[in-house]
Amino acid sequence: MTDTELQRQRELIEATIAELEASMPYLEEETKAVEPSVSLGRLTRMEALNDKGVNEQVLAENRKKLDRLHNALRRIEDGSYGKCIRCGNEIPPGRLEVVPEALICVPCSEKKRR
Ligand SMILES: [Zn+2]
Repeated sequence: MTDTELQRQRELIEATIAELEASMPYLEEETKAVEPSVSLGRLTRMEALNDKGVNEQVLAENRKKLDRLHNALRRIEDGSYGKCIRCGNEIPPGRLEVVPEALICVPCSEKKRR
């Protein structure tokens, strides 16, 4: 991977991190305990609890993704970014554009699934 490509990936990862972090306060607010006394307007308590469950899932996934993205940034710093951690081959730039936090190449990830 060239320096230009690395730079582009870094910008992509940093933009994704910023986007995810911006959504966190909202999600954290939405996953706070639903107070029995809270005025929900037209929303029933059941619906509020359901939304809370969905938001908790999104929040957990965002946290995992943030971890992986920060990890990818560290890998850019130490020069191991873009190499499959299993077979050591370069991960194609097309895959990294879609999944910038990818640690393994497609053949390896397919092997893992089997
Ligand atoms: Zn591989």
